[in-house]
Amino acid sequence: MAEKNAPYHAIIVGGGFYGCSLAVALARQGGKVLLCEQEESLLTRASFNNQARVHNGYHYPRSVLTALRSRVNFPRWVSAYRGCVVDDFEKYYAIARRFSKVSAQQFRSMMRRIDAPLEPAPKHVTKLFNSALIEQVFSVREFAFDAVKLRAMMEADLKEAGVEVMYRTRAVKLAQDGSSIRVSLLHDGHETATSATHVFNCTYSHINELLAASGLPLIRLKHELAEMALVEVPEMLRNLGITVMCGPFFSCMPFPARRLHTLSHVRYTPHGSWQETERASPELRDFLNHKRPASHYPYMLADSQRYLPALSECRLVDSLWEIKTVLPQTEECDSRPILFKSDSGLKNLHCVMGAKIDNIFDALAECAHL
Ligand SMILES: Cc1cc2nc3c(=O)[nH]c(=O)nc-3n(C[C@H](O)[C@H](O)[C@H](O)COP(=O)(O)OP(=O)(O)OC[C@H]3O[C@@H](n4cnc5c(N)ncnc54)[C@H](O)[C@@H]3O)c2cc1C
Repeated sequence: MAEKNAPYHAIIVGGGFYGCSLAVALARQGGKVLLCEQEESLLTRASFNNQARVHNGYHYPRSVLTALRSRVNFPRWVSAYRGCVVDDFEKYYAIARRFSKVSAQQFRSMMRRIDAPLEPAPKHVTKLFNSALIEQVFSVREFAFDAVKLRAMMEADLKEAGVEVMYRTRAVKLAQDGSSIRVSLLHDGHETATSATHVFNCTYSHINELLAASGLPLIRLKHELAEMALVEVPEMLRNLGITVMCGPFFSCMPFPARRLHTLSHVRYTPHGSWQETERASPELRDFLNHKRPASHYPYMLADSQRYLPALSECRLVDSLWEIKTVLPQTEECDSRPILFKSDSGLKNLHCVMGAKIDNIFDALAECAHL
């Protein structure tokens, strides 16, 4: 087995938005950093296959802490990643009359509490909704991001910070090696190993896979196989992003990386969920083997168009599929804190999972304490 000689200050496993951002931050502090990513390029998984929403608090009316953190992080994210931010569309949140977990009044007072700008939507927009099902529509300030541009920005930042990046390289096992951690890697089918003082497991839905392969304790996570339809919306919706809150409803958001919109539905986007166990679940194995279930788009559309009739003119182009992973304890109030677990079975092994891209600043703050 080939051995790399120079140990690193940090090895980051996983080249999504979180792994790349941590690698850049650590390298800028002067450490020698290696980033390994199993795919051909960076940001191909959850950091690409998501709703592309830059959160500003509106999505979390039942969790004041999550709403407030997004509110604080929003201007920072927009400023730090300006080149990837898409703000040339109007954004509306609508509150359903029935089955909603918040009323329009509750939504309004929560947004006032976190100081999130909110106004009644103009008449020409309100008229798009079915007033029998929608209590009120609000005009808000929320943006989207272009994941292709974000990838290019991350590549440039990694290069400028001097991070060594290994593509097509899978971390297969971690083990204590004196005061360092030894990382076994599979690169283009060849096994190699190297070591570092700190290792960051930033593999999102694969966090437990690497822990299990290393014989380390698992972290309680909940996974969901998610489908977001990629649609061409009719002209009258092209410049809009719409979210109906708060319960089994839907979002229709611009997806700049493909110049389409995503249509996602709280009830139909999930194709099954499972808690972490010792063995990979059948859904995970099928997903990894590129097997996809039949699309739920017809159900998403049938329900969404009751609230927003213009959606009936959407044209399905494709679907984005991804495993969405959350901390199970956050399900009740729909909060989205980060996971930052240090000494996760090994000294200086840190498992990091951001629930949203704006949480990156919370992860970087934790990292600065190490
Ligand atoms: C359906 C869905 C919708 C979402 N919508 C939004 C939204 O609108 N706004 C928002 O802010 N957030 C959203 N999120 C959350 C957001 O996408 C994630 O918080 C974020 O992308 C996580 O980034 P990451 O770097 O941790 O994960 P990823 O981008 O998944 O990166 C993990 C990387 O690790 C690599 N990897 C895995 N195992 C190994 C290994 N053993 N060795 C080497 N590499 C490995 C993978 O190939 C991958 O590139 C959504 C998520 C999903 C799934």
